[in-house]
Amino acid sequence: MAEYLASIYGTEKDKVNCSFYFKIGACRHGERCSRKHVKPSFSQTLLIANMYKNPAHDPNVHLTESQLQDDFDLFYEDIFCELAKFGEVEEMVVCDNVGDHLVGNVYCQYRLEESAGNAVANLNNRFYAGRPLYAELSPVTDFREACCRQHEISECNRGGFCNFMHLKHPSRALRRELYEGQRLDIREKRREEMRREEEERRPRDREYQHDRADFKSPIECAERNQEFKQEY
Ligand SMILES: [Zn+2]
Ligand SMILES: [Zn+2]
Repeated sequence: MAEYLASIYGTEKDKVNCSFYFKIGACRHGERCSRKHVKPSFSQTLLIANMYKNPAHDPNVHLTESQLQDDFDLFYEDIFCELAKFGEVEEMVVCDNVGDHLVGNVYCQYRLEESAGNAVANLNNRFYAGRPLYAELSPVTDFREACCRQHEISECNRGGFCNFMHLKHPSRALRRELYEGQRLDIREKRREEMRREEEERRPRDREYQHDRADFKSPIECAERNQEFKQEY
């Protein structure tokens, strides 16, 4: 029985836990959902709810497609660089849905749970674009599972109100620059650490060599013993 419950946990068959919250980290029923939204105590993924405001949804703003992309790229870069301060980012995604529970949601999956935990604690005291941030650990583990297949392939007939993630993607060049930049940064930091460790070890190495220099070779020792015997 326990095994069966574990196998259906967070799926549509699970009558207790909400499959939407489990898979997507947000459910349209919110707090009033009849199924449980189990918030994780540890997770590699953090969610900042309703953070991105797409100017395309503002009737007073008229931007071309390329201006909209530039605007989004600036946002993506800004947030990625901020979130990368807490640890290695494996993937950061932004929702372009318009339903209240998904609009502008930013999810960031870190390599380490610790990084996500630190980011949540820090971001909840901060503002972005004049609004307070709401960050939380999210149960989402696989963005592919959370994304709307129809939207990925062509167009989803539920539009922006779809309950699966419709992602807004940064331009390819920016994506490459950010993730590659992070990789090089991490490599440089590791090298720097190794150099520092090497420096710390060096004086001890010298002492060790000094000690060894005091030891005589076995032949030398035998000769010394011989001399010693002859003298007395
Ligand atoms: Zn729910
Ligand atoms: Zn969809």
